[in-house]
Amino acid sequence: MLITLKEILKTQRTVAAFNVFGYEDAISVVRTAEEMGCPVILMTNKDCVDFIPQEIIGPMLVTMAKNASVPVCVHLDHSRSKADIERAIASGYTSVMYDGSQLPIEENLANTKEIVELAHAAGVSVEAEIGSVGYSDPNVVAKAEYTDPDQAVWFARETGVDALAVAIGTVHRMKIQEAKIDFDLLKRIKEKVDTPLVIHGSSGVKDEDLSKMCEMGVSKINLGTSLRMAFGNTLRRTVNEMTEEFDRLKFFPASMKAVSNKAKEKMTIVH
Ligand SMILES: [Zn+2]
Repeated sequence: MLITLKEILKTQRTVAAFNVFGYEDAISVVRTAEEMGCPVILMTNKDCVDFIPQEIIGPMLVTMAKNASVPVCVHLDHSRSKADIERAIASGYTSVMYDGSQLPIEENLANTKEIVELAHAAGVSVEAEIGSVGYSDPNVVAKAEYTDPDQAVWFARETGVDALAVAIGTVHRMKIQEAKIDFDLLKRIKEKVDTPLVIHGSSGVKDEDLSKMCEMGVSKINLGTSLRMAFGNTLRRTVNEMTEEFDRLKFFPASMKAVSNKAKEKMTIVH
């Protein structure tokens, strides 16, 4: 069942959102969600849509979502481009994230408002970011800045976004679960902001901290690196083991199983 971000966030206390990069990981996530009876969000980031344009991957993910027995949202993650967002909407995505977190706040606000207007007119949800979640990847240049609760209230009200990403200590692309979370800041934001909150960079969060975030009412938990590592590391092992094999389809099942296991592990915590 294909639904919007706004609607899927009403179906469960916290919904897991996974970055996917093609057919194999996406279908594994959807099948695992069906097996668990959980809603799930499929996200494509810039690296993904630079490789497989949203006009191609969008309809594929939308078809998977429509055929799924559980609610599935198809979401464009971290876009800084209005043109890319328009292409995603035209390709069937039910949700987009406009990321103006690197811009001066007034510019982030103005651009987010414009995206909300055009997306809502098409029945598509919008996520935006206030404060800035940094990256542990040295190839990505981005500032990191904790979210100010008062600024978050103002930004949510002025823009009318459906979900708000906040920075409370997580870092994108962490390979080990050792992020230091400022729960007091999360509590202060949560007390003031009615808009559903999103935590990015959650692969780097300890399991017990993920549980705590859910208990505190975070609506969407973004996970990318943990699944990518499960897929890629298993693929490397498989290829090295199957020395006579050349058929790529023979290489994928083990990686798909690894993605399913990791998604299941995370969805058991995030619900
Ligand atoms: Zn992110």
